[in-house]
Amino acid sequence: MSDHDEFRAEVRDWIETNAPRALYGLEVTEFNGNWGGRNAVYDPPEMKDWLDMMSERGWTAPTWPKEYGGGGLSREMEKVLTQELARKKLPPALTRFGLTMIGPTLLRFGNEEQKLEHLTKICRGEIRWCQGYSEPDAGSDLASLQTRAVRDGDEFIINGQKVWTSYADLSDWIFALVRTDPNAKKQEGITFILIDMQDPGVSVSPISLISGKSPFCETRFEDVRVPVRNVVGEINGGWTVAKALLGHERSMIASLFGGSSGGVRKTGSGSALAGLARSYVGDDAQGRLADPVLRNDIAQSEMDTKAMGLTIQRASDSAKAGHQPGPESSLFKVYGTELNKRRTELSVRIAGPQALGWEGPGFDDEELQRTRDWLRARGNSIEGGTSEVQLNIIAKHVLGLPD
Ligand SMILES: Cc1cc2nc3c(=O)[nH]c(=O)nc-3n(C[C@H](O)[C@H](O)[C@H](O)COP(=O)(O)OP(=O)(O)OC[C@H]3O[C@@H](n4cnc5c(N)ncnc54)[C@H](O)[C@@H]3O)c2cc1C
Repeated sequence: MSDHDEFRAEVRDWIETNAPRALYGLEVTEFNGNWGGRNAVYDPPEMKDWLDMMSERGWTAPTWPKEYGGGGLSREMEKVLTQELARKKLPPALTRFGLTMIGPTLLRFGNEEQKLEHLTKICRGEIRWCQGYSEPDAGSDLASLQTRAVRDGDEFIINGQKVWTSYADLSDWIFALVRTDPNAKKQEGITFILIDMQDPGVSVSPISLISGKSPFCETRFEDVRVPVRNVVGEINGGWTVAKALLGHERSMIASLFGGSSGGVRKTGSGSALAGLARSYVGDDAQGRLADPVLRNDIAQSEMDTKAMGLTIQRASDSAKAGHQPGPESSLFKVYGTELNKRRTELSVRIAGPQALGWEGPGFDDEELQRTRDWLRARGNSIEGGTSEVQLNIIAKHVLGLPD
């Protein structure tokens, strides 16, 4: 018996004994996964027990060091854990920005005090994070940001405005980019800083979207006092930290869409799209999907999704512990998000007129949700850096093309 067989048996046994039965087969999407934090709503309530028992073992962040609340597992053991959870169709106990963006960034750039304070809370799902990068005049050209931080003894006084801050209204802390030296070259005067959203002077107002959901907020800072010890990395050295975090963000976005069903909810048998198409179009005499054009497009989409999933898996398998995502994360981001747009487009094409509903009778909940998912997918190629910007990065840093 190899070490991994032993570990697999241990995990299997633990799941069998502990995992709440109510969570078996629970479908988790980008929106209803557990993001943790002070305002978390656990639905079903067993999600809270699941979070507590998984974090107790360090399995919310399986490869992070144990002293920071992680599980201290190797990548291979993490894979075993993931496979065993998938076998029982159990949802992740915790998800998103803390684990996938600020956590890995703190592991690399944070000091010991910051790691002990923040990583342990992230692993236990106690703190929900949001990202304060974009500003009204700084999106793709992020280094033009104008939010000012002026030093006053052991504190910075922060003034300015962030925009498109996803879920700021539900978050406890924000990782933000601020300008600490207005006279330096624009990339050189930026600092990466952690701010408690409950600090006096922080205010948040939601923005509405075409999809009907409103994850976006404007976040304002008015004379917000933040301790200098909350700076991650060097003062005026935040651009390096910011870029590293973007690498994690792009990998996270890409992996969201590299799964078997990607952004399309599963319906019926077979893959998500094939099951959906069967329920609307039916089968022909040979038992194949009746519409040959749809059949072709779905097969293409399934093959591309599978290839994407395997490529992401290969990249993550080859990543040794401590490997940081480089410009290749831009490749995954472009392909994953364009693929997801194509897939959600296909899902509304399959539903035909039933995809045209927005509210009221005549459309079931899944149909109404599918239309919203399709509209939400439009934003995939903008968030985390637009596809055009990713193509620029690929041209310059992957292909080495001249400016
Ligand atoms: C769903 C979603 C969630 C988001 N969440 C957050 C968040 O939590 N926190 C946060 O800080 N931000 C967030 N953003 C903001 C996001 O990072 C910005 O929208 C993005 O970086 C683009 O910036 P912009 O909107 O200012 O567009 P602009 O930069 O004004 O770009 C406008 C257009 O010009 C193109 N363009 C710009 N520069 C170039 C160039 N050099 N070459 C070629 N084309 C170019 C762009 O591709 C785009 O098509 C989110 C955005 C979305 C859609």
